[in-house]
Amino acid sequence: MQDIVIIGCGVIGAACAYELAKYNLAVTILEASSDVANGTTKANSAIIHAGYDPIPGTGMAKLNVEGNAMMDALCRRLDIPFKRVGSHVLAFTEEELITLRTLYERGTANGVPELRLLTAEETKAMEPSVSEEVKGSLFAPTAGIISPWELTLAMAEVAVRNGVTLKLNTPVTAIERRDGHFTVITPKERIDCRLILNAAGIHAGEIMSMAGDTPCETVFSRGEYYLLDKSEGDRVSSVIFQCPNRDGKGVLVAPTVHGNLIVGPNAESIDSPDTANTSRGLNFTRTQAMKSVPSLSIRDNIRNFAGIRANHSGEDFLIGESAKVPGLFNLAGIKSPGLTASPAIAKLAAEWVGKRLSLTEKQDFTDGRKVIRFKHLTAAEKQTVIAENPLYGRVICRCETVTEGEILAALRSPIPPTTINGVKRRVGAGMGRCQGGFCGPRVQEILSRELGIPMEEINLDEDGSYILTGRTKGEQIK
Ligand SMILES: Cc1cc2nc3c(=O)[nH]c(=O)nc-3n(C[C@H](O)[C@H](O)[C@H](O)COP(=O)(O)OP(=O)(O)OC[C@H]3O[C@@H](n4cnc5c(N)ncnc54)[C@H](O)[C@@H]3O)c2cc1C
Repeated sequence: MQDIVIIGCGVIGAACAYELAKYNLAVTILEASSDVANGTTKANSAIIHAGYDPIPGTGMAKLNVEGNAMMDALCRRLDIPFKRVGSHVLAFTEEELITLRTLYERGTANGVPELRLLTAEETKAMEPSVSEEVKGSLFAPTAGIISPWELTLAMAEVAVRNGVTLKLNTPVTAIERRDGHFTVITPKERIDCRLILNAAGIHAGEIMSMAGDTPCETVFSRGEYYLLDKSEGDRVSSVIFQCPNRDGKGVLVAPTVHGNLIVGPNAESIDSPDTANTSRGLNFTRTQAMKSVPSLSIRDNIRNFAGIRANHSGEDFLIGESAKVPGLFNLAGIKSPGLTASPAIAKLAAEWVGKRLSLTEKQDFTDGRKVIRFKHLTAAEKQTVIAENPLYGRVICRCETVTEGEILAALRSPIPPTTINGVKRRVGAGMGRCQGGFCGPRVQEILSRELGIPMEEINLDEDGSYILTGRTKGEQIK
């Protein structure tokens, strides 16, 4: 019998697993996808929001500000990139200047530190690329940028290293409840557990239905992005927002922790969670972004992608124990700023669990992790790691200077990648200008060799996203 089954390993499921791994509990995470962070967590703006957007008094406001404050120490422990670059919300009209004042007051009520209303001149002095049309901005120095999938992977890795079981490719298809416990059913097995944490993202409502709860309202809202080459990476130095509207926080222009520039998202309500990009969405995104930063060079785009928000009509996250199904804890309706709030949500989830099960701390819990990122080493450090392992001297991804040593380290980590994009998310191979055109086949060879499976069976990402179908010229000549 498991104490807890966590359904879903996006940033919320992983944060809960990381928090609960500190206690003597039997915890299993069930994830439908072939990798962690493969849902909304891999496709968002990657901003650690300061906390002036949520309505004061909501759980969202509290968890946003708390989560933001936890990020420095958390990211240092987990050895993942995080930069407090600050954010500006731009105003282009007198009406928007009033909106900035409202956001300033909200932020102050929410406890956001060091918020400042800036004049147009002050804004331009800090961000020379913003439009001449700007009339002022709200500056929040505590906003930051992060790598959402690296945060998720790192938390999940520490959890697994400390005894949490993670089962990938394991969709939950049904849930039974009897004698005060649950049986969670997947195509492979039935797992008994005392409590369920439902962290299934945009599918959380389906899990609620399976468990006998009333499903939450979910409105799928697609946001589309451009990711620009590093040549555009310092076009702005902070996150440049526009005034929020009823569809969300509006289109932003921001640096990424990997040195690129991210532009987006729009917000379009759709019937099914389809992440295909559309010319309509991208045209809107581009036009809006150019309003903030007219000199943007969109032709330096290296990738488009889209993410799906778990929207609903309320102003808060839909989290807590089900009133109908005791022992089912829903982490639903986690729209933005869910990424920011994730560590604070996980602390709260551990408090809920503590009211049901006895929480004793593990004496042998080992926190943190360390990753070698070859390109960030000094020349002397590079020589040392190559002397210890010559595979750090074999560059596989030339755009991002990722070595075979790093790929093999990922393949020997607690949650090894099995796909080309799994390698990309862990070590950055394929994230550069050529987007894997050069290194993709070499990564495929390494995966095939190390996993002991034919090249044809290596997927790009989800099951079925194969790359090779077979030989075009008959048998290989020996
Ligand atoms: C366009 C956009 C921009 C955003 N920008 C920001 C931002 O800048 N800052 C910020 O703080 N937040 C942002 N957010 C919000 C943030 O991305 C989300 O709140 C967060 O990623 C939600 O994480 P999650 O773990 O709940 O969901 P997910 O990442 O979707 O994880 C849920 C997981 O559950 C799995 N799952 C689903 N059904 C089942 C099942 N039946 N069995 C097993 N597993 C299942 C899925 O495969 C998935 O991996 C943005 C969101 C979007 C869409």
